[in-house]
Amino acid sequence: MEIRQAAVIGAGVMGSGIAAHLANAGIPVLLLDIVPEGAKDRSVLARTALERMGKADPAPFMSPEAAKLVAPGNLEDDLDRLEAADWIVEAIVEEPEAKRQLYHRLEAVRRKGSIVSSNTSTIPLAYLVEGLPESFARDFLITHFFNPPRYMRLLELVAGPLTRPEAAAVLRDFADRRLGKGVVLAKDTPGFIANRIGGFWLRTAIHEAARLGLTVEEADAVMSGPVGIPKTGVFGLLDLVGIDLVPKVAASMGRLLPPGDRYREQAFDLPLIERMIAEGRTGRKGKGGFYRLREEGGRKVKEAIDLATGRYRRSERARPESIEAAKTQGLRALLTYPDRTGRYAWAVLSETLAYAAELVPAISDTIQGVDEAMRLGYNWKYGPFELIDRLGTGWLAEQLQAAGRPVPPLLALAAGRPFYRSEAGGLEQLGPDGAYHPVTRPEGVLLLADIKRTTEPILKNGSAALWDIGDGVACFEFTSKMNALDGDTLDLLARAIPLVAERYRAMVIYNEGTNFSVGANLGLALFALNVGLWSEIEALVQKGQETYRALKYASFPVVGAPSGLALGGGCEILLHCAAVQAHAESYLGLVETGVGIVPAWGGCKEMLLRHMTNPHRPGGPMPPIARVFELIGLATVAKSAAEAKQHLYLRPEDGITMNRDRLLADAKARALAMVEAGWRPPAPPAGIHLPGPTARTALELVLNGYVRLGKATPHDRVVAGALAEVLSGGDTDITEPLAEADLLALERRAFARLVRHPASIARIEHMLETGKPLRN
Ligand code: NAD
Repeated sequence: MEIRQAAVIGAGVMGSGIAAHLANAGIPVLLLDIVPEGAKDRSVLARTALERMGKADPAPFMSPEAAKLVAPGNLEDDLDRLEAADWIVEAIVEEPEAKRQLYHRLEAVRRKGSIVSSNTSTIPLAYLVEGLPESFARDFLITHFFNPPRYMRLLELVAGPLTRPEAAAVLRDFADRRLGKGVVLAKDTPGFIANRIGGFWLRTAIHEAARLGLTVEEADAVMSGPVGIPKTGVFGLLDLVGIDLVPKVAASMGRLLPPGDRYREQAFDLPLIERMIAEGRTGRKGKGGFYRLREEGGRKVKEAIDLATGRYRRSERARPESIEAAKTQGLRALLTYPDRTGRYAWAVLSETLAYAAELVPAISDTIQGVDEAMRLGYNWKYGPFELIDRLGTGWLAEQLQAAGRPVPPLLALAAGRPFYRSEAGGLEQLGPDGAYHPVTRPEGVLLLADIKRTTEPILKNGSAALWDIGDGVACFEFTSKMNALDGDTLDLLARAIPLVAERYRAMVIYNEGTNFSVGANLGLALFALNVGLWSEIEALVQKGQETYRALKYASFPVVGAPSGLALGGGCEILLHCAAVQAHAESYLGLVETGVGIVPAWGGCKEMLLRHMTNPHRPGGPMPPIARVFELIGLATVAKSAAEAKQHLYLRPEDGITMNRDRLLADAKARALAMVEAGWRPPAPPAGIHLPGPTARTALELVLNGYVRLGKATPHDRVVAGALAEVLSGGDTDITEPLAEADLLALERRAFARLVRHPASIARIEHMLETGKPLRN
């Protein structure tokens, strides 16, 4: 069977987000909720949920087309429409009785063989199907999404003893390929994997912070970056997800977990949290939480709560010494640091890691499943077992013993061996049987990380590397910090092109960083600017243009495969690829004007060419020029791959991959298909006709309008003026054909002028210091 249509019941936070994400995958969805008493619009709950999502940031929908696929309805008038659904997702209140009552109603109307699943976060499947007919249980599973469903990659899948294997297989494959989720098979236990461990970690972290007298800033500083946990840490995360969730989840877990489970024993009273909830201080959605922003003399002041008194005070950045120790000497140094922050790290992590070790195989057959769940569901960089490996299994066992605490059986079984080991055949994991087993990947998943573990790069320098990924395809990887591009990146690319031409069939440009590339390395640029190395900077611009041009006209197909941010020079390299296979969560943009310059690695030229040859554009030369002027002038970043197509940062025929882990395989397959189809490099465009000064004047009129409205700053005017000159073709006229080289020369000239401007330098400095554009 195939999922072609879906329905979601419950239009709350999760239900509406799940409906949106199904629509992102191109699936029509019916979204139903109850009819509130006396409601005039009987589908008001689903309808308002859709309206709310239209305005939400980050956006639940990837495109306006997706938003049109969700139809609102209600559970009284539209129940018979459920017959059309291949998959019905239940996301109503977390109450077993309410869920079961709903299932009885669903059983009467749903099509035979359709799949029903619950999004419950805590309730085991066995409870949910109690009293329901076997026909229902056979088609029933738990699909536990994380909030927000579009962005959180984890999906925990739980099948019951009666669940048809085919139903589980269909959902698993659909969630993986079409929804892009990392599907982790969980056992039928309360809270499944991520929330069982994550919830325990949070409660321990709150409790220990209060016990050891840490400030919330100190606790968050320790329990984040140094451990590989997002910078929200503990208290920042609670503010984000809503503090009211803490007692709710704890109550449900307390009811469901067997006596003696340490989660229950750790269910300390948290009077401060109770008080905060009673006062509406539930976090970012309420009147502030552990942190809050307060207006003071027109400025926003960040405050933090005092865990002892519950009163707010001005927030102070914490930079405990233990963090420095962790940086230079590793995780063990953090956990043994002789102050209260070190004791905190030890208390929280030793409890959490030991708890995780106790739970395998009860909650997951493999440690890989647990690690994946924490990485994808809580955005941890390392899962619990990977963290234990960083500490050493032997070391942790000894420390626990020395503290008079029990050593979990799995940790004892490891007996000093690591949980993961790298063998010639690939990565292996320790099983509950004490033997090593291969770390498995779903069929068709290709990870550069796996290739890198067992092979050496073909080429490599400090900023990039070239890998053989099999079948005659090479992979060019950025390796610098935040994948910022510099002279070394270009050097290696320039060396890679002839080498791939000689020895390989195709190349993909891909990496497994959070972001594909944040663009040119501004830090290096600023350094050069400060010492007046103009010629160095201009040489780098020239070299970028030449290298990207060589990429465009390479004798083999080049497929760009971005995920995350692809900005500035990182977007320009994609504009020069023969094709792009983008992760759905790719954010492309030419943002150079934000730092006071214009794209000068061929970005203006490529965008102009794309928009001028777009068959859907309105007539005349002006509309495409104006559109590119607007996109680059406003430093527009597309908020999804789908949106990037609207801006022509991606071409209509470029591919989109929903699952991050399938991106490399898809890009490689695309490259090979191009080879098979007899790929030839493109011919340079025949003469490009641009209107010259008349177009420039027209663009400047638009710009003056912005200035008058106060939407453009004085320096915006300078930068946009230079951009207008490039995009209008300089001193040309419409009869005079320009070559690509002419446009590149215009880019270089505008760049050279702007980069010397003190206001542009101020923008670059500000961006480096704050990560935000300066509006000067
Ligand atoms: P919510 O309160 O935002 O939404 C629940 C919706 O269900 C509401 O629109 C309500 O009108 C509707 N509803 C209530 N009773 C109903 C009934 N008897 N029949 C039909 N509809 C009914 O809740 P939520 O946060 O979206 O949670 C929904 C489910 O997802 C719960 O099982 C929860 O445990 C789970 N979950 C929540 C999160 C999260 O972060 N919020 C994460 C993962 C899973």
